[in-house]
Amino acid sequence: MPVPRDPFADHPVLEAALPVAVLTALHDVAHLPDDEHQRLAAEFADTIAAHGDDLLYGGKHCAPTFAALARGLAVLAHQPGGVTFTGLHWCVGSGHHGTRHQAPCDAEIAREAAQQDSPR
Ligand SMILES: [Zn+2]
Repeated sequence: MPVPRDPFADHPVLEAALPVAVLTALHDVAHLPDDEHQRLAAEFADTIAAHGDDLLYGGKHCAPTFAALARGLAVLAHQPGGVTFTGLHWCVGSGHHGTRHQAPCDAEIAREAAQQDSPR
């Protein structure tokens, strides 16, 4: 089976800009309820699926698709276990903001287990 290619391997500007954009978006989506996170995740996934080529190769939808990617990663960072994309990891619960980390996030799993074990 071929190894998946890093989509940002040839895009150093995207790779450099994404952690900053996600960090900014984390705050923007933090106050939203879970159902809004789910709605936004679907919306961002649709944008990325429709215009991911513009993001990688340039096109009129490049900027909104980059914003959808950053905001989508920010939404996922608020979910248990966070999200890892192109080797960068975000999870709000453990304070990982664009760290180089392999999924699954041990700190997040331990935090979730501690929450489940604690009396309410
Ligand atoms: Zn983490």
